[in-house]
Amino acid sequence: MININRSECPTELTEDHKKKLTQKFIDTKDSVWAVSYIKKPLFEMSHGKCSYCEGKLGEEGKYMHVEHFHHKDAFPNEVVEWNNLLPSCVHCNTNKGTHNTIAEPIIDPTITDPREHMIIENYRYKSKNNSTLGKKTIEVIYLNSSDQLVTPRFDIANKSLDTLQDLLDKAIEFQAGTNISTKRRNIIINGLKSLLREAHPKSQYSAIVATTILKDSYYLELKNIIIGSGLWDYELQTLETEVRDTSLY
Ligand SMILES: [Zn+2]
Repeated sequence: MININRSECPTELTEDHKKKLTQKFIDTKDSVWAVSYIKKPLFEMSHGKCSYCEGKLGEEGKYMHVEHFHHKDAFPNEVVEWNNLLPSCVHCNTNKGTHNTIAEPIIDPTITDPREHMIIENYRYKSKNNSTLGKKTIEVIYLNSSDQLVTPRFDIANKSLDTLQDLLDKAIEFQAGTNISTKRRNIIINGLKSLLREAHPKSQYSAIVATTILKDSYYLELKNIIIGSGLWDYELQTLETEVRDTSLY
């Protein structure tokens, strides 16, 4: 789970139009929010990922649910209120169900940075400093569901660690002068950039992958070799800063 910048309200959602849609929902229970001018910007706002678990929502949002942070049954006047809408996957949407976020608050990632209330350890979310908000969010969204979340996160993060180890082996050879070809140098530098992109806020499960990579001692070792060789460039620095802002530890 990462902080999400709330995008501008779609121009179609004027006060008049919202009133009409809201009344239609109250009268008919129709999914008045299931329109492209709402779904598309929500999908883009989260880089095509679920706002809670960061799972991919499929091409063009095929698996996207429009989640009402304040549930539509208890808060019908907010069914098309832009600030109340989040893109979500079916699992998180179902787990949250009719949970009342006013009576028992959880993290709205467009308002609260999850890093203030949660950490990640061993591919699992934990509340930070006994934060009630963090604890409640993990429970309500069921963020440590083994089958749906912890296993896929582990698979992706573990693959990243394999890549990290391979890059470090190559960098050690490069540093020792065993293999200093241009090809080898490019493999190391571009390999690290690709690895950091896998942990970037735009990528699936970025909070977990970012935390796993940055916490691993091999990462610092690799970075130090690259810095020592004078190859740490602006792009690497920018990527690392963005990834650091995503990690939870
Ligand atoms: Zn989800």
